[in-house]
Amino acid sequence: MRIYHLSAECYPIAKVGGLADVVGALPKYQNQAGQNAAVVMPFYNRKFVHENTFDMVFQGTTLLGTRRIYFEILKETTDKLGFELFMIKIPGLLDRENVYSYPDEKDQFLAFQICFLDWINWSGQTPDLVHCHDHHTGLVPFLMYHSSLYKRLAQIPTIFTIHNGQYHGAFGWDRLNLLPEIDFYKTGLLEWAGGINPLASAVKCSWRYTTVSPNYLHELTINSNGLEYLFYLEGRKGYGIINGIDTDVWNSATDPMVPAKYSLTTVAKGKQKNKELLCSRFNLSADKPLIVFIGRLVVEKGADVLPDAIERSIQQHGDNVNFLILGTGDTETEMALQKLKDFHPGNCAVFIGYDESLAHHIYAGADFLLMPSRVEPCGLNQLYAIRYGTIPVVRSTGGLSDTVIDFGDEGGYGIRFNHVSVADITHSINRAVELYADTKKMQQLRKHMMSLDFSWGRSAKEYNDLYETLIPKL
Ligand code: ADP
Repeated sequence: MRIYHLSAECYPIAKVGGLADVVGALPKYQNQAGQNAAVVMPFYNRKFVHENTFDMVFQGTTLLGTRRIYFEILKETTDKLGFELFMIKIPGLLDRENVYSYPDEKDQFLAFQICFLDWINWSGQTPDLVHCHDHHTGLVPFLMYHSSLYKRLAQIPTIFTIHNGQYHGAFGWDRLNLLPEIDFYKTGLLEWAGGINPLASAVKCSWRYTTVSPNYLHELTINSNGLEYLFYLEGRKGYGIINGIDTDVWNSATDPMVPAKYSLTTVAKGKQKNKELLCSRFNLSADKPLIVFIGRLVVEKGADVLPDAIERSIQQHGDNVNFLILGTGDTETEMALQKLKDFHPGNCAVFIGYDESLAHHIYAGADFLLMPSRVEPCGLNQLYAIRYGTIPVVRSTGGLSDTVIDFGDEGGYGIRFNHVSVADITHSINRAVELYADTKKMQQLRKHMMSLDFSWGRSAKEYNDLYETLIPKL
């Protein structure tokens, strides 16, 4: 089955968050299971290409409103990724320094989607299925069925996966003229709350939509930044499929970014060595429980509560607990964390920035990973932590509820709490500190976690089963 995954991010080319990890792994596992899955993403800039090399396989022009756009389709040639990768290059519009946050972002991704459709349409391709990811690709299902330009594509099933339902990519009706020919009476399928809403349109027009965990599917009807009623209406089309992790990349025995490699049998020694290296780099003590946070420093992740919760914990435990934060995001939170570090230099270390290699080292060297998320569609960090024998301390929400069982419950291995509050977080940290003192229990939980299977094999099969319901001939 020929499948095109359409996404703004794909690991290892361009990664801002979990979207990249999913799109960089799912197709690989689908291909191992006998599919023919490829990824199509924007070409941002030379710096994103790494050692990959590309051939130009198509060039064309298209219209974005009245503006004529030249584009190229580049195909990756090294074959190292486990799937075909195509990049759409639109000189002067998409080839920028960063992935997101330009004032003309809406035009950038609109052009990306139109160029994709033009390419498969004019080059005569008929994929078996188009799988779109997040709002940057949300207008594709609508355009495939309702633009007179792409009539040839109208029989192709589309799936839309919501990695984060808080972001919709909405824009005003004044931009309607940027879309290729559509009948006016169909524009209701683009609309939500008085504007063009790509996420809402995708939920309405895709054949099926999925969320990255079963629990998040339900939560979208309660909290989706204004789309709650839509998710309630369209609920029968929705499926929750938990993300997997790429166990080739996330393998503590082979991970080149982990200084002291370890396996299930050597976890205690390996983690201690990695912890010592981390602690000496950040001026912390390797004898104390090391509690870490990795991620975007935004309200959605509960990062705003971190400074107060850490302060309170340090007050309660004196010198007996260490914190390490890796992240970037809201300036206010970044500044509060820096201040905390200056106040408690031996107990709290902060690295503001994005550092993939450091993240891998931290997952391997930490004792506990804290995730006080307000919203967590799936969450990959806890899965990486589990795989590396690091105990997740999570708020019960979204995919965190689906993947972390409290160690007080049967078969459990993590710590769960209910509210994004200083009280709940510090209480959980107290439990972590107590648990840390029980070396035997810690060792047992680490081994238990490392033997769990959160690989893509299982999730890729679920996507496959869903595809098959749409293409009965398979
Ligand atoms: P998000 O909502 O940000 O997509 P996920 O849990 O789905 O959250 O994925 C986050 C991914 O980004 C993980 O692979 C995590 O390790 C990585 N990550 C986040 N922030 C950083 C950072 N500052 N440095 C390195 N890796 C990071």
